[in-house]
Amino acid sequence: MTFISDIKFLPGVGPKKAEILQKELGIGSVEDLLYYFPYKYVDRSRIFYVHELDGNMPYVQLKGKISRFQTVGEGRNARYTAVFSDGTGSVELVWFKGIKYIQEKYKDGKDYLVFGKPSLFGSHYNIVHPEIEEFNAGNEKRQVGLQALYNTTEKMKSSYLNSKAMQKIIFSAVGQIAHHPLTETLPAYILQQNNLLQLNQSIINIHFPKNIEILNKAQHRLKFEELFYIQLSILRQSKFRELKYKGFPFSKIGDAFNLFFEKHLPFQLTGAQKRVLREIRQDVGSGRQMNRLLQGDVGSGKTLVALMAMLMAVDNGFQASLMAPTEILATQHYHTISEMLGEMGVKVSLLTGSTRKKARIEIDEQLRSGELHILIGTHALIEDNVVFKNLGLVVIDEQHRFGVAQRAKLWNKNDHPPHILVMTATPIPRTLAMTVYGDLEISVIDELPPGRKPIQTFHYYDNKREAMIGFLHKQIEAGRQIYIVYPLIQESEKMDLRNLEEGYAYFKTHLPQYHISMVHGKMKPAEKDAEMQAFVAGKTQIMVATTVIEVGVNVPNASVMVIESAERFGLAQLHQLRGRVGRGAEQSYCILLSGFKITAETRKRLETMVRTNDGFEIAETDLQMRGPGDMDGTLQSGMPFDLKIANLSTDSAILALARETAMQVLTTDPMLESEGNKILNNQLRKKVKDRMNWSVIS
Ligand code: ADP
Ligand code: MG
Repeated sequence: MTFISDIKFLPGVGPKKAEILQKELGIGSVEDLLYYFPYKYVDRSRIFYVHELDGNMPYVQLKGKISRFQTVGEGRNARYTAVFSDGTGSVELVWFKGIKYIQEKYKDGKDYLVFGKPSLFGSHYNIVHPEIEEFNAGNEKRQVGLQALYNTTEKMKSSYLNSKAMQKIIFSAVGQIAHHPLTETLPAYILQQNNLLQLNQSIINIHFPKNIEILNKAQHRLKFEELFYIQLSILRQSKFRELKYKGFPFSKIGDAFNLFFEKHLPFQLTGAQKRVLREIRQDVGSGRQMNRLLQGDVGSGKTLVALMAMLMAVDNGFQASLMAPTEILATQHYHTISEMLGEMGVKVSLLTGSTRKKARIEIDEQLRSGELHILIGTHALIEDNVVFKNLGLVVIDEQHRFGVAQRAKLWNKNDHPPHILVMTATPIPRTLAMTVYGDLEISVIDELPPGRKPIQTFHYYDNKREAMIGFLHKQIEAGRQIYIVYPLIQESEKMDLRNLEEGYAYFKTHLPQYHISMVHGKMKPAEKDAEMQAFVAGKTQIMVATTVIEVGVNVPNASVMVIESAERFGLAQLHQLRGRVGRGAEQSYCILLSGFKITAETRKRLETMVRTNDGFEIAETDLQMRGPGDMDGTLQSGMPFDLKIANLSTDSAILALARETAMQVLTTDPMLESEGNKILNNQLRKKVKDRMNWSVIS
């Protein structure tokens, strides 16, 4: 028996399927295949009754008859439904695709084994895209036990590479281990210390677990390994960076800072703002390069902290820049900051994609001469042709919109890397922060400026819309402004835009005496800006928009946030949107509108919003409910790597263990030079090359 490394030679694969596996999943070698882990396991050893179902069940197996097939809806909204019953109750089966196939395949009156996840709608269960087998003596006797399920793509399915087929192929791959075991990827002492299963045993049992105990051990080992190498790499890099780069010392607090503090500060700093400024001051004064993450809920006053940190740079002869994710936001920062600085003699400019050539030339000159102290802008700032005389601090606002690679570009803007302050309003649970931002120090503003009244949040079904109009009317009469936000996602873009326009027309007819702005991502920047500015200036009372307004915009007079189709937003995003109101002294409101048909999970999301304004509590709930892989794009795009097996919401204990182990290793052997740690060095190099793109930071 010889070792097969190319999967196309594995039984049941062949060149065509090999090509698809490569294209769809990047699987080329037997090893890749062995590391393609199941996304879940199902216990098919028992058949449930409908009357036993409850809303929280995972996948279950039911036995009964299917009848009353019918098509509901039309065109893109068409779905196909049937009723499954087993004598103890019934469940609706739903298909959105493959309708023709279903119609031909399943017949009234026969007994079937139906397999899937029941969701509760009102008082009734449904199962979307169930797996169905004809029931017969064979599968009745079969005691499958724990069965691994594999994710597959549409393309794979259409080439008969479904979960079952993947399982077969992986079975042959696992068979290879007997003759050609994989080389262990963790040092023996770490395995022993942490009581971890060996690699080969772990791989075999992750795919074909003999029982639940050994499956747990296999999962534990593989999760540990995954998190351990991430921690090892992050910690080693920050150690390395600390040794290699000196930071610019901002040794003094000078005139600009003091003058601003004494004469220009429009209000008292909150305790949290003061604490964070001290933390920043300590970093930038230390001679080390600062890499700090500033977390603060929406409206907590991060801009002011950014400005004062930039003044520290100015006082020490350095330039500073503030980078925002959108043009609207950059422009707003520019206006706020210019206004706050007044005639202080600190020169501030704005640079975005739509800065005119003439202005741009002037900015370039002043940047090089050092005449310009603070540059505010969008990512246009980090382009190579923007040259500073002496850039000492970069503040990145709402960092999740920036990729790691963009951040890394900043390292080359001066002979030493500038200090970096990353600000985010997305509260990040500790476990996640440790992994995503393991190389950053963390500061938290956990206090809102005084006098803010907590936003009141309500959830209404769509039929309450008319009643809501009366409320909006009263608010506008009292001098307030209103946001109305619609979801927009790429997959249903056309329909979403139509909804937005219909919404605009609806509010136009029902509140005819007021002016309405409309903003969405498909508009030209200039148009968008004009509409936005009209709202900011109070010329319009209502802003109908898609989520483009989600980030950062500050209109203190806006007191109502209406979120249409709230069921389609994730928790973090709902919280971000709500944060657009409640910025002034007035009582603010958030109204979540949804359809009647919502899942138990959606209900929990909306209830969480109604119950609390605490961003950290919301983030924690989100992480619990959805897992980090599913969390809003905001967080996900902040994730510099993919986790194959560990889950940050449930594996925090393993993460802590992995981090602690990595620290121990680096304390005794910082360069990983000892014989016993050779494995670590090799693995780091390999893993960084293979999967993790966050090494760009170094
Ligand atoms: P975010 O943290 O969401 O970026 P901002 O910096 O936009 O919040 O601040 C929100 C609002 O709170 C702004 O109108 C700002 O002027 C105001 N603000 C900031 N700090 C204070 C403070 N210490 N006291 C009162 N108001 C403040
Ligand atoms: Mg902000």
